[in-house]
Amino acid sequence: MNVRTFTSIAAAFLPLVALLGLVGCIGSPSALAPGMRGSIGLPHRGCLTGGASLPNKGPGFERYRKHEVRWGNPRLVSAIRTASADVARARPGGAPLLVGDLSFESGGVASGHRSHRNGRDADLILYALTPDGRSVRAPGFIDYGPDGLAVHEGKFYRLDVERTWLLVKALVTAPGADIQWLFLAAWLEALVIEHARARGEDLSLVHRAENVLLQPADSTPHADHLHVRLACTPDEMVAGCYGGGPRWRWLAPMPQLAPLSDEDLIVSIVGDLLPGPATAAATPPAAP
Ligand SMILES: [Zn+2]
Repeated sequence: MNVRTFTSIAAAFLPLVALLGLVGCIGSPSALAPGMRGSIGLPHRGCLTGGASLPNKGPGFERYRKHEVRWGNPRLVSAIRTASADVARARPGGAPLLVGDLSFESGGVASGHRSHRNGRDADLILYALTPDGRSVRAPGFIDYGPDGLAVHEGKFYRLDVERTWLLVKALVTAPGADIQWLFLAAWLEALVIEHARARGEDLSLVHRAENVLLQPADSTPHADHLHVRLACTPDEMVAGCYGGGPRWRWLAPMPQLAPLSDEDLIVSIVGDLLPGPATAAATPPAAP
């Protein structure tokens, strides 16, 4: 698809995306918008069709609450499953990754969240250690300070920086995941990135992680969980995914307009003055 087609389709959908965002996902795709599907609209104003469901348990992960806010864009569900399995394989014997809310099957408002409405968001509870460094099941969403420590019901917990880095690395490199953001408090990002550098990780990978890790300005700082947000793929944008945010250079490029030849350029400039398709359309079609 060339960029002109892409842009005109996307532009035609925008008012509809806004409308669907306001009133919810009224049975889309519908006769009105048969092409809209998947993660439709914005993370905070949108809906979801054709989502995948995250099971309660799998290699390296468990869902924290076993309710229905378990649906996501299939790329999101696959990225969580792949990344948690990668961490468990790299550091076996540890506590599982506890996965918080994703979205409802059709998206829309999920209580307690501003986003999580079109299957592009998931909350991952941070891996925890005992103060003496043994992996332990995280007691839930607990806030870690700049020293990497949290207190919950009189017990101390330490952020498992090593597994957190392995998780970040697995997410940003998961094939097809196209991570847009990993929301995390700046002081925890500093611990994770410092660890990655000390480990001698590939600098381009560390740079990529530093770009997507972000302390959000318009919500809690995220010192108690890692919040995954997917970018829209070009195909999803045509189908109504509306994303904002930077288009990282390591993601699939947007469709580009092929350069015009001199002849095509002249035709496009003076085209209105030349006999157009109206003349041709007046010619009766040839008999089959
Ligand atoms: Zn979150």
